[in-house]
Amino acid sequence: MEQLVNINSGTANAGGVKKVGDWLKPQFEALGFHVKWHDLPENMRHAGSLVATLGGNSGKRILLIAHLDTVFSRDSAFQRFTLSTDKKRATGPGVIDDKGGLVTIIFALKALHHVRGLQNANITVVLVGDEELAAKPTDVSRKELIEAAKNSDIALGFEFALSPNELVIGRRGLSEWFLTSTGKAKHSSNIFQPTVGFGAVFELSRVLNEIRRELSQTPGLTINPGLLLGGQHVREETEEGRGITKGKKTIIAAQALAHGDIRFLTDEQRENAEQTMIRIANHPLLGTTSTLAFRHLMPVMMATEENQRLLTEYSAVSKKLGEPTLQAIPPEMRGGADISYISRYVPASLDGLGPWGEGAHSEKETLDVDSLPVVTKRAALFLWQQIQSPSRGQFGDGE
Ligand SMILES: [Zn+2]
Repeated sequence: MEQLVNINSGTANAGGVKKVGDWLKPQFEALGFHVKWHDLPENMRHAGSLVATLGGNSGKRILLIAHLDTVFSRDSAFQRFTLSTDKKRATGPGVIDDKGGLVTIIFALKALHHVRGLQNANITVVLVGDEELAAKPTDVSRKELIEAAKNSDIALGFEFALSPNELVIGRRGLSEWFLTSTGKAKHSSNIFQPTVGFGAVFELSRVLNEIRRELSQTPGLTINPGLLLGGQHVREETEEGRGITKGKKTIIAAQALAHGDIRFLTDEQRENAEQTMIRIANHPLLGTTSTLAFRHLMPVMMATEENQRLLTEYSAVSKKLGEPTLQAIPPEMRGGADISYISRYVPASLDGLGPWGEGAHSEKETLDVDSLPVVTKRAALFLWQQIQSPSRGQFGDGE
């Protein structure tokens, strides 16, 4: 863990991410895995993915997911692994997100290897190099992941856990929206007149306020306007997260713009919310217009019955080990992750199987060290059961 954490692998540091992959490669090879590094096209400027496979034909076809990158760039002040004097708490970049997940996978597999439990196992491990800021387009940067998912019966994500007894069976999807309003650029003394109307700023405010009134009570749905511009001329610099606006208090605003996100539990919920937002925008104030554009960013990981069943099995393993019953964390508690891109291609998936701690994505990122053996044993015993159990294909029902 210390060695892994001390290799900087901020998403933009492609060389560092690759170095983490190079460090892991022999670990998997020693367990009999065939390991291949897949680069992304040069112009995507991110590291690729490490894929390790065991092509046996016993039991379920299992996909294990974790990531090599962290949110901490090469020039971040947060670079080193440190252990508290009582050895209970470790801090460092990625110590739970997601180098703790990598360590869990390696040691669970080592345990299985030790008892010859990997013979004939069918396991694919995909370690993505750009989880924290996915290289676009995602159908290219997630190609290895999606292909592996299509050939798997279950997918297990080793993102960190938030507590000892909660796992993830669903994650919300994410889109972004751009609202643009226009008005007539007349002298302010004419605002509210029938020939002039209300201007772009009042119109944009109306749309936002009605969105809040109609949609803020839907469980699991959130809509956040994160950036707002209004005046004679507005321009958002989306990449930089800033904007420029020019205007005067004596001239009615001709342009206004809001940029926000929307998070949703199901595609149906997203569609309904989008329809409502468009309907609101389509009834503008006098002398104004509003238009909405949506862009899809991250699919939903649906909290399906199959995922719940996998959780129940994981929980049974936890109890066998003298640990607590495991529960599903509400999907709105966790953002999207790599498992979100593939859950629809796999019959069942589960995430949050890494160790727990606190402060992910902050310079206080801390691992509860005692959680490592707990989650590693759980994973090893669960995998053991899945390797023994018949795969879907072996039922011969043509699914
Ligand atoms: Zn992560």
